[in-house]
Amino acid sequence: MKNIIQNCKQQLKEAGIESWNIDYLVLLCAALNKTKEEIVFADDNIELSKEEVLKIENFISRRINREPVSHIINHREFYGLDFHVDANVLDPRPDSEILVFETLKIAKNFEGNPSIMEVGTGSGCLSISIAKNCPNISSMLAIDISKEALEVCKKNIASHGLGSKIATLESNVFSRLRDEKFDIIISNPPYIKTKDIEELQDEVRNFEPRLALDGGDDGLDFYRQIIDESPKFLNKNGFLIFEIGFDQKNDLINLAGKSDFEIIDTVQDLAQNDRVVILRSIFLAAE
Ligand code: GLN
Repeated sequence: MKNIIQNCKQQLKEAGIESWNIDYLVLLCAALNKTKEEIVFADDNIELSKEEVLKIENFISRRINREPVSHIINHREFYGLDFHVDANVLDPRPDSEILVFETLKIAKNFEGNPSIMEVGTGSGCLSISIAKNCPNISSMLAIDISKEALEVCKKNIASHGLGSKIATLESNVFSRLRDEKFDIIISNPPYIKTKDIEELQDEVRNFEPRLALDGGDDGLDFYRQIIDESPKFLNKNGFLIFEIGFDQKNDLINLAGKSDFEIIDTVQDLAQNDRVVILRSIFLAAE
C-alpha cells in the first residue's frame, strides 16, 4: 500500500495540483474508508482489493482533471458541520462562515424569536449552520431556483435533523413567495461578473454551477433585485444580510444609497476582505 500512496502523491504533484499534500490524504481516506492516521501509518502488509485500487485511480484522475475534492468525495466541512455536496451546488467556502457569525449575533440578540429566509441556499450550509447554533429561531425558509440544488439542501437538512425547522421552496428569488414576512433575509447570491467567469480557476469554472456564480454584467444583478423586492417580505425592523465579493463594498454602498435600506455594518473575512454587508430598512426602522 505504501507504493500506491507514494504514487498518488507523485501523480498529483506532477499534475501541478498545489494542494497535493492534503488532497492525496483526503482522497485516500474516502476511497478506502480509513482515517488519516491509518493512511499515514499504513505499512506494506495491507493488501488492497482490485476495486479499491480502481477507486483510488478514479479519484486521483478526477482530481488531476481539476475536479474539486469535495465533489469527488461528496463531502465538505463548513462551520464545523459536515455537508453533502455535488456539482449542483456551490462548494461551501470558509469565507462564508463570517455570514453565519454575523447572522447569529443578530438572531441571538433579537427580541422574540426571529424568522429567517435565505435566498439562493445551494447546499443549505448557511441556513443549517445558523439553525443548528441558534435555538431561538422561530422558522426558516431556504429558497433556490435549482431543483437539483434543493435536493442536496433537503438531504443536508435531514442529516442534521432540522426537517421541522427549515422549509424549502423552489423559486427564482421571491417569485413564488406570497404573503410571508421574515425578520432577517440572508443571501450569498451569484456575484461574479459574467465576463470574469472565464478567468476563475478550473475547479470553479469547470465544475461549479454557473447559476450560482454569474451575477450578470456588473455582478450586481441579484443585490439589485433583492434590495428592490425584499421590503415586501421583511417585517418591521428587518435585516438584509449579504455576502459580497472582495471588491463590491462600494457598489453595495451605492445601491443602498438609492434604496429604502441603509448599511449598518460591513464585516471582513479572515483574509481581511470585505465579505458581509448588513442592511436595515430606514423607513421601517424609523416607524
Ligand atoms: N466566492 C465565490 C468565488 O469567488 C463566488 C460565490 C458567489 O458568486 N456567490 O468563486
